[in-house]
Amino acid sequence: MQERASERVAPPSPTGPRLGSNRDSTRQHNLAAVLGLVHSTSGLSRAQLTRATGLNRSTIAALVGELVQLGLVVESDLDQTQQHGRPSIMIEPSPDALVLAINPDVDAVSVALVGLGGRIVSPVRFHTSNPPSAAEVVNIVSAVYTGMRTSLPPGRRVLGAGLAVPGLVDPADGSVIEAPQLDWRGEPLSARLAEALGLPVSAANDAVVGARAQAAFGAGRDVPDFAYVFGGGSGIGGGLVSGGRLLRGATGFAGQLGHTLVRTDGAECSCGSRGCLEAEVTRVALLEAAGLPSGEVEDLEEVVLERLRSGGAGTGPLRDVVERQAALLGVGLRSVVNHLNPSMIVLGGFLRILARAVPGVLDDALRAGGGRGPRENVAIELAPLGADSILVGAAELAFEPLLADPAGYAAGPAPA
Ligand SMILES: [Zn+2]
Repeated sequence: MQERASERVAPPSPTGPRLGSNRDSTRQHNLAAVLGLVHSTSGLSRAQLTRATGLNRSTIAALVGELVQLGLVVESDLDQTQQHGRPSIMIEPSPDALVLAINPDVDAVSVALVGLGGRIVSPVRFHTSNPPSAAEVVNIVSAVYTGMRTSLPPGRRVLGAGLAVPGLVDPADGSVIEAPQLDWRGEPLSARLAEALGLPVSAANDAVVGARAQAAFGAGRDVPDFAYVFGGGSGIGGGLVSGGRLLRGATGFAGQLGHTLVRTDGAECSCGSRGCLEAEVTRVALLEAAGLPSGEVEDLEEVVLERLRSGGAGTGPLRDVVERQAALLGVGLRSVVNHLNPSMIVLGGFLRILARAVPGVLDDALRAGGGRGPRENVAIELAPLGADSILVGAAELAFEPLLADPAGYAAGPAPA
C-alpha cells in the first residue's frame, strides 16, 4: 500500500550500487536484482544474468538456487537461441507465485491471476448492467477468487492483490477518494477487499498502473520519457514517466489528462468543468456510432476498423465521430507533449482505435503549426498489452514488496 515518494517504474537497475554495509543487505539487494531481471525479461540465461549484474558465476548460481528454493524462479532447458558459445541454463519466473489483479469499471469488473513476468492466467471479465457499487465489487471479486483458488494446481500461492481504480486513490491508505463515473466517493475499497480476500491489497489509479505495465513490459520499456494515455469506460487518464520515474505530483494525483481542456464551452464533464478531453472523446460515443451495445467493448476496435475499411452504407456518421475524436485527442496530446517533452506517447484502451483508424487526423492535430520543438519527433505508439495492460499494472502493485525483498516477503506467512 505504501508508495514511495518518487516511484521508480523501470525494472531495478542491475548496475546500481552494491550495498556493502553488511552481508544480509548485499544478499537482499542481489536477490532483488536477479528476481527483478527475471521478472522484467520473463526469463534469461545464467550467462545473461552474470553479464547484466556484474556478479560472478558462483554468486549467480547461489542466488538463483535461493530463488528456486523460495519458489520464485525455475531453471529450465538450455537456451538454444545462442549463436555461439556454450548453451546456458534458462532462468524463468516460477508459475507458482501469483497475485490477484482487480479492475472495476462502469460496465464490468475484471479479475485475473497474474504470474511473475506479467503473465495473465484465468482472466475473468464480469459484466454488470449498471456501474457496480463498491460493495458489489467486493462480492464479485470474492466469488470469482473463490472459484479461481479451487481450480489452482497444487503449489500455487497467491501473495497479494492489486487494485486499479478509474478514479482518485489516496496513496496513504489505498481508499478511493472519488470515482465519478462509478458514483463512488470516499470508499475504503482496499480495506474491504483485504478483509474479504484475506490478502494484502495495494491500489492506484488505472491509467497510472497502466503506465507501470508499459514501463515494465510494454512499449515504454527502456524509454525514460513517455506518456501513457488510456481511454476506458470511465474516461481518460494518464501516467507520465519522466527521467525513468513515474510523476506523482504533490498529492499523488499527477496525470489527470482527461481533464485537459480541448474545446472551449464543450460538453459538460464529470469534474464540473466543460470541454475536457474525456467529456469530448468517449468510448460510449464510439460504441453508439458503431451500433454496438454498451457492453461490447472487446470487439469495438475491430468492428470500427472493419466498417471504415469496407466503406459501406452508414459509415459516414461513424467516420465523422472517429475523425472528430481523433482531432480532439490530438489537441489534448499537444498539451501533454508541450509540458512533458516525451519521446513517445503510448495510447491504450479505446484511444488505440483513433490512432489506427485515422492516424493522419490525430497527427495533424498534434503537430498543428509545424510541430517544431517537443512535437517534432514525438512517436505515437499503441499499447501492445491492449486491454490487459491495466491488469498487468495492477499486478505490478501487488508484486512490489516481493520484488523489493524476495526472501523476506516470500518467506512470510503466505495466505492459503
Ligand atoms: Zn473534466
